[in-house]
Amino acid sequence: MSVLIDRIGSLVTNDPELGRGPLGVIEDAALVLADGAVQWAGPRSATPEAAAGERFDAGGRALVPGFVDSHAHLVFAGDRAREFAARMAGEPYAAGGIRTTVAATRAATEAELDATTARLVAEARRSGTTTIECKSGYGLTVEDEARSLAVAARHTDEVTYLGAHVVAPEYADDPAGYVALVSGRMLDACAPHARWIDVFCERGAFDGDQARAILAAGKARGLVPRVHANQLGHGPGVQLAVELGAASADHATHVTGADVDALAAGDTVATLLPGAEFSTRAAYPDARRLLDAGVTVALAADCNPGTSYTTSMPFCIALAVREMGMTPDEALWSATAGGARALRRTDVGRLSPGARADAVLLDAPNHLHLAYRPGVPLAAAVWQGGERA
Ligand SMILES: [Zn+2]
Repeated sequence: MSVLIDRIGSLVTNDPELGRGPLGVIEDAALVLADGAVQWAGPRSATPEAAAGERFDAGGRALVPGFVDSHAHLVFAGDRAREFAARMAGEPYAAGGIRTTVAATRAATEAELDATTARLVAEARRSGTTTIECKSGYGLTVEDEARSLAVAARHTDEVTYLGAHVVAPEYADDPAGYVALVSGRMLDACAPHARWIDVFCERGAFDGDQARAILAAGKARGLVPRVHANQLGHGPGVQLAVELGAASADHATHVTGADVDALAAGDTVATLLPGAEFSTRAAYPDARRLLDAGVTVALAADCNPGTSYTTSMPFCIALAVREMGMTPDEALWSATAGGARALRRTDVGRLSPGARADAVLLDAPNHLHLAYRPGVPLAAAVWQGGERA
């Protein structure tokens, strides 16, 4: 089963050996997909003779790699629209709002959680997301966290155990007891469903020592750390992420020079989540400072019902360009190849031979339109594993 995508006005491969600049852009291009993977990418004039069963005419429009959204909280019930409205009327955001969603999630059936997750994954795909990570974190009991991860695992391979989202309400007076639960019995129940372990390391959630203990326990069970770090204020999260070899430090909004140096020297990706700053009316992270220091930057949507209820990677690209000092090229790279780095994947985030056939046709002549035309549904067609999604 092969498809020739022909007459591509501008093809972003993210492979500098195939085209112009860091994005490896090829004008007047063609792409051959076969058996779920990219078989060939190059200028139309060089399209292989044997190419294609099926031919798709891109009509001169742009084709980019499917977006890799490396940070999402999709297993939940209820919404927090009223909290959002109150915040827009002047009330500040605090980590405790998560508990509202915890109560609703515990009360929901597994079928309801599954339906919400499926709906959001499909919504993300419609705007071009072909790889999405998904966290637990709204159950906060052994059974509810394991149930959330089992739901997530039906929709993605990138499943993250986030029992340490906030201290469960039952443990409000015994946070040490909750840390022991998350690192012990809850971890035992959750590890079989997950690839990653995450901690919300923030004032009001978990401090550096608690986060280190939980992440170390997860590592001992074969999970790879990622950290919610430095979202609401300065703290130990970013440097802890680097110290523990985390794949990603997520948010990285309030960072010191030492934090930036640590990221630049280590292998940990800084994953910026501008939907959160947008939805909490907070100051954006300084992507320019991180990029100029040599840090690998990813962009993700952070879809969650409290602080960033969007699945749109194009929206995040537009915010990153308008508000965070990224160029349109950098923002697209971070939303595709950067997300792949944050998930330690080499098979997604690019459109070069051997990559998974995940691609987005934009209703635009080139990828600059992603930031230039904010809020517009530009994804005209999406391929996931070679299939039209
Ligand atoms: Zn998050």
